[in-house]
Amino acid sequence: MVEELNHLVVQVLRMELPTHCPACGAPWIDSSTCESHFHQLLFWEAEDPSRGSVHHLMVLSYHLQHPHLYSPETLQTGMQMLAQFIEEGVSPRQMRQQLQSSVDSGQRTHPITARPGHAGAYAYPVVWRLTVADVVAAGADAYIPSVQGWASSILAALRESGNLP
Ligand SMILES: [Zn+2]
Repeated sequence: MVEELNHLVVQVLRMELPTHCPACGAPWIDSSTCESHFHQLLFWEAEDPSRGSVHHLMVLSYHLQHPHLYSPETLQTGMQMLAQFIEEGVSPRQMRQQLQSSVDSGQRTHPITARPGHAGAYAYPVVWRLTVADVVAAGADAYIPSVQGWASSILAALRESGNLP
């Protein structure tokens, strides 16, 4: 009887606490979530400023795997930005200038972040090979190559799924 009750309690708790991220599929073990992993990565960057060289890839990767945080327009722009960073070698500085000129010319009229009823979503389902949980698991010393590998895997997954032509 006690065993049955325990089993029931475990089941109920499982229902209440998701074990995987509904957006990117990363495992949520104990009290860790993708958001707490994201804060861990920001902490590692603050700890060693050289790790900030991949900050733009990290932030973009995190949001592209949680597309509901972006507006639909920013999600489209974000996918193109990732391709430009990785395939064309565009630097964060060049990207800022490019974005600034489009803002100055009044081209950007949409909000960057999601609003109720106006959140980013992919047209086709995506299979992610790496998540923020993998970057955390690889540890602080591997931070820069881990983030680069994570970002490249996201670009490949977006291409393969047909979301990024
Ligand atoms: Zn996630």
